[in-house]
Amino acid sequence: MNPNDLAASVDVLIAGAGPTGLSTALALAPLGLRVVLVDPQSTEQLADPSPDGRELALTHRTEALLRQWGLWERLPAQARAPLQAASVSTGGAQAALRLDASQARVGLPPLPALPRPGWLPQALPWLPDLAAHALGEASPAPSPIAADTHLGTLVSQHALRRVLWAGCAALPGVRVLAGHRLESMQRDDDGVTVHLVGPQGQARVLRASLLVAADGRLSAVRRMAGLVADLHDFGRSAIVCRMRHEQPHRQVAHEAFHHGHTLAVLPLADASDPGEGGQAGVLPRHCSSFVVTAPSEQARRWMALPAADYAATVEPWLDGQLGRIQPGPGEESRRHLYPLVATWAPRLVSQRVALVGDAAVGMHPVTAHGFNLGLYSAETLARQIARRARGGQVDPADARALDAYDREHRHTARWIFHGTNAVVRLFTDDRPAARLARQATLHLAERLPPVKALIVRQLVDA
Ligand SMILES: Cc1cc2nc3c(=O)[nH]c(=O)nc-3n(C[C@H](O)[C@H](O)[C@H](O)COP(=O)(O)OP(=O)(O)OC[C@H]3O[C@@H](n4cnc5c(N)ncnc54)[C@H](O)[C@@H]3O)c2cc1C
Repeated sequence: MNPNDLAASVDVLIAGAGPTGLSTALALAPLGLRVVLVDPQSTEQLADPSPDGRELALTHRTEALLRQWGLWERLPAQARAPLQAASVSTGGAQAALRLDASQARVGLPPLPALPRPGWLPQALPWLPDLAAHALGEASPAPSPIAADTHLGTLVSQHALRRVLWAGCAALPGVRVLAGHRLESMQRDDDGVTVHLVGPQGQARVLRASLLVAADGRLSAVRRMAGLVADLHDFGRSAIVCRMRHEQPHRQVAHEAFHHGHTLAVLPLADASDPGEGGQAGVLPRHCSSFVVTAPSEQARRWMALPAADYAATVEPWLDGQLGRIQPGPGEESRRHLYPLVATWAPRLVSQRVALVGDAAVGMHPVTAHGFNLGLYSAETLARQIARRARGGQVDPADARALDAYDREHRHTARWIFHGTNAVVRLFTDDRPAARLARQATLHLAERLPPVKALIVRQLVDA
């Protein structure tokens, strides 16, 4: 990935070497395209990122793609943990929905197709897609889930970034310009001219056929390309960290929507260090990621608590399900704060520019789909470009390929994006009527196998 031999003109320039930017390079380089990734972070930060607290629930489709690239096996055992089941509750012993992978096999009733937009109010343009998806029309490939297998796999984001980086490093067609930020760009009929600024403020200019914006949910490149995005600030932040606990988690995740805050507990591999030698009062190796979501002001107050006080604050919310909890293990127990903002770009392409990952669709993390969708966007873009190749010639900026990418990825993302926001609205509204409605929703879903099947299919395969 040595940038010194970088040509002044390349096929694809990707702004952002986060997980989606790297995935996009991995998807495009095998088409014979010369790809350059640009990111303000240093080579060291990109190649060996520090833990950021995020444990990503990856779907079966994501796992299959990473296996195809030979990267899945390279994730260290300590950084991935299978998720066997999930329980969703309104806190305490109240209504709970229990989900496991075998429930995806329930057959859904055949229903007639819905009319396309036209008669629908402007505010609900996504409704037919949502219904089509629910009826199974929108998923051409059946989910590859087998009964009694896992719901998904939890993978540490920093470990995932490491293997994606290593995958890119092994591809001769991929170069990285670390320490560089994309500052501006101009398009013409033949390509895009991109202006970069290096670590000491030095300017650099590159030409590319296609510019891919993988620079995150507040994407500057999206704005430069004149692509609008709806931003929704939830006014809430997520605190993430690892904790040890007394009882084993049995690979079950818990999501509890309490009054004023939510708690998700994600089962991880046992801690690698043996703790403090099994002395009295010290907890064993059982380890989970704790994700607490609360109004941002409250979250900042909890961030300021000493680690032991924070653990003591959270422990009662679990109603003893995991026994006593303690901060740890080691450096990975550090708390990280993420303000929650969702973004939706109604159009993902314009002349010679495509949005991928969070720059295209920035999800609330409650349904755990952000990176999964980012990876699908990378794969979809590459597949649509490959489909238009003629006589061995691949044009990465082919307008029909970009339009097809735009249609397909918006279609994939719509259902999960709007569904997630509806869940957030219902489950974070603390008015008595909403609280009753969510208890009733969980109660009903628990008793209706087809509804469970729909939820599980979304969880495992989007
Ligand atoms: C608490 C939490 C839990 C989550 N859980 C899950 C989960 O369970 N499952 C899941 O799938 N997803 C999950 N996600 C979402 C996932 O973390 C994101 O979707 C993913 O990190 C997005 O990757 P990205 O590469 O698109 O963007 P980013 O990670 O934001 O990367 C953007 C990159 O662009 C670079 N950049 C910025 N500006 C420029 C510029 N001008 N020029 C060049 N480069 C630039 C940045 O340095 C950065 O490297 C979670 C997120 C949070 C916050």
